[in-house]
Amino acid sequence: MPKPKKVPKKKNSPKEKKDKKTLLQSVKGMHDILPADQPWWEKINKAIKEVVDFYNFSKIETPILEAVEIFERGVGDATDIVEKQMYTLRTRGGDKLALRPEATAGIVRSYFQHGLSRLGQPVKLYYLGPMFRHEQPQAGRYRQFYQLGFEVLGGEDDPVYDAQVILITHRLAEELKIKNLAVQLNSIGCKNCRNTHRKKLTEYYKKNANKICGDCRRRLSINPLRLLDCKNEKCQPIKNQAPTTIDFLCQSCRSHFRAVLEYLDELNFPYSINTSLVRGLDYYNKTVFELFADGGNTALGGGGRYDYLGEMLGARKNSLPAVGSALGVERLIEVMKTQGLSSIARSKARVFLIQIGKPAKKKAFSLIEEFYKAGVKVIESLGKESLKSQLKLADKEGVDIALILGQREVFEESIIIRDMRSGAQETVPLTKIIETVKKKLK
Ligand code: AMP
Repeated sequence: MPKPKKVPKKKNSPKEKKDKKTLLQSVKGMHDILPADQPWWEKINKAIKEVVDFYNFSKIETPILEAVEIFERGVGDATDIVEKQMYTLRTRGGDKLALRPEATAGIVRSYFQHGLSRLGQPVKLYYLGPMFRHEQPQAGRYRQFYQLGFEVLGGEDDPVYDAQVILITHRLAEELKIKNLAVQLNSIGCKNCRNTHRKKLTEYYKKNANKICGDCRRRLSINPLRLLDCKNEKCQPIKNQAPTTIDFLCQSCRSHFRAVLEYLDELNFPYSINTSLVRGLDYYNKTVFELFADGGNTALGGGGRYDYLGEMLGARKNSLPAVGSALGVERLIEVMKTQGLSSIARSKARVFLIQIGKPAKKKAFSLIEEFYKAGVKVIESLGKESLKSQLKLADKEGVDIALILGQREVFEESIIIRDMRSGAQETVPLTKIIETVKKKLK
């Protein structure tokens, strides 16, 4: 037999190469939330509902895009979040916008824009939505991630609300049954006490200027408090010995912080004081806190008081005492998974509708709607043809009852009910099927 001739491979022309489409992927650090993960998200939503219903928080949703200035002024232009991680864009009309890296600044903008100060104060709000930070993606760190948060806006700068926000942030994680929770607290004081601290901090860092990174040398002149956020290995020994905010609190900040602790003590709420906790956003004052899981290894969330944010965004001085917190939803889910917790189980259908042949398929199609109206969940596989394959599926779904519609049944206006456990079958008139199924499911 002659050897088959080798057909030379046709080389793609440059044009053909260009036309060849690659399968596109999601953007680095941004992830899909697939159907299999939805029960975890449902669990989060359920826990949020429990907490916000009880503590009387109302939902707010603000746009993902805000003017860049909101974050430059609110979060602070010397913070890592604004300086290094913010996604910004210029519109065709020339506006400079940012994908929100956090929600609080936008919510405060909304509070003033819509006159929420006219409502009974304080206004208690919560949110859930995507945030965007251009960070190096790694386990538990994404460029698009969801935060849920609580905000108490307006009224007095009453320490009871600091305690309540800390409590409900912890409560949310508790509601999800997350174990080994730990809350760390600190006070970074007000403008007055921060001035004294800033002077001492600057003196200290100036003395050690040759031992810190370039970023810190820059922070030293723009915003010394941000020196305490530095993650660079080189700076850690200096940071660990730096003067702490708590040693410079004025009388009023000291008693505010003491009152927060007293409220928490009233509940025997477990916390520890971490004097080097400052949080990476400029808008905080007085109380700051973080919530950890697994003995402090995973940061689930954090927050604090932000009495100056209103005026940073252009409102009257001292017009908005406020306190709030944010939790990372992906982090909560990851911790639930590693701690072996369960998600929400989907409500299982107990009835499977099998159809064989075209007329039966048509009948089944409309019968499903009757079940819908009767509030009985039915699953089907309308694309399948054979009895065997549909019975196999019904078995896999673990239903109690299979309904079988064949050509003969359609002709006789009847349907077969099969008990999936015993295999017993009976035929009933189609007009009686909903009522019979309902009875059997009882
Ligand atoms: P922050 O206000 O920056 O402390 O963020 C509050 C919480 O949001 C953190 O404790 C994390 O749980 C979560 N979070 C912050 N940044 C990210 C990120 N890049 N990816 C996933 N979760 C994040």
